[in-house]
Amino acid sequence: MRLSYTALSSYENCPLSYRFQYVDGLEVEPTPYLSFGRSMHAALEWLYGRSTPEPPTLEGLLSFLDSCWSREGYSSQEEERSFREHGREVLTRFYYKNVDDFRLPIAVEERFELDMGGFILSGVMDRVDCNPDGTYEIIDYKTSRRLPELSRLREDLQLPIYQLACREIWGITPSKLSFYYLVHNQRYSTRPRDESGLARVRERLETVAEAISHGDFHATPNRLCPWCSFQDVCPERVSAMGEGEAMRSRHAALLRRKEKLEKAIAELEEEMRRDEDEFEGCD
Ligand code: SF4
Repeated sequence: MRLSYTALSSYENCPLSYRFQYVDGLEVEPTPYLSFGRSMHAALEWLYGRSTPEPPTLEGLLSFLDSCWSREGYSSQEEERSFREHGREVLTRFYYKNVDDFRLPIAVEERFELDMGGFILSGVMDRVDCNPDGTYEIIDYKTSRRLPELSRLREDLQLPIYQLACREIWGITPSKLSFYYLVHNQRYSTRPRDESGLARVRERLETVAEAISHGDFHATPNRLCPWCSFQDVCPERVSAMGEGEAMRSRHAALLRRKEKLEKAIAELEEEMRRDEDEFEGCD
């Protein structure tokens, strides 16, 4: 079994939604927020994933954002344009705040897999810095507009999981675990977990892995249900909505999937046509 932080939080939020996504393989619907997050992460990977220690120009960064911009999930061109504009502003503020201290990190978008005994723990660390005093810092970018409550940050497992990964991969213990909230251009740092804290992290992971291996996928209705991608197939949600509304919701979800498939088919056909033209041009 493979577990990532995202899978773990999906299970802890609602085991049934975990099953839909990770066991049944149903697709999570693209949303503006997911696409925005993906584009911003790609731009920051480009900014820090360099081979020379000089920072690129802001223009270079913004033009990279344009080239890697993910267009999925937006309901209109207008909406997409406004998110892209917002992304450019957020990156510009980030650039000016960080460019003077620019250093090459020791890792950017570092993938890892840890054998935890009964399961594989996998993930991707956005960035790991080595500070001038020789200490290390793990940084994870967040693109949400809402700032977290500090108590929730302290309970969150993402950065402690990365702490475990740093120890396994490089044998280092970072002195700081940080979330960088890009929209607010603000960094929230906590101290690393001590040994008993890390043991509690392992316990929580093992509890989830065990529940999954026993097939415990009960539905847990929660405040995020209205944004769940699987509402149209979730029995709890369907019975809460009533049959008529459930059918309309399923119909709307199927139409969105149809539109997405048609778009993907059209893009593929266009690519095939270009390929054929090039082949004929060679003759
Ligand atoms: S709609 Fe709510 S209860 Fe149903 S799967 Fe999604 S999160 Fe779980």
